[in-house]
Amino acid sequence: MEKRTKSKFLRVKCNDCEHEQIVFDHAATRVKCDVCGSTLVEPAGGRAEIRGKIIEVFT
Ligand SMILES: [Zn+2]
Repeated sequence: MEKRTKSKFLRVKCNDCEHEQIVFDHAATRVKCDVCGSTLVEPAGGRAEIRGKIIEVFT
């Protein structure tokens, strides 16, 4: 069975200030927290690495 990587939007909570933000899980650029500037998403060639806490996944 083949599993397709679908791009999704995620609601991520910042580890530092608990601000919640909507991010793209295939982000090609680094996404920072709007409030404190902490890195929330790091591009990793394809699916990005999520640094914060994933609260919700929009499918
Ligand atoms: Zn923050």
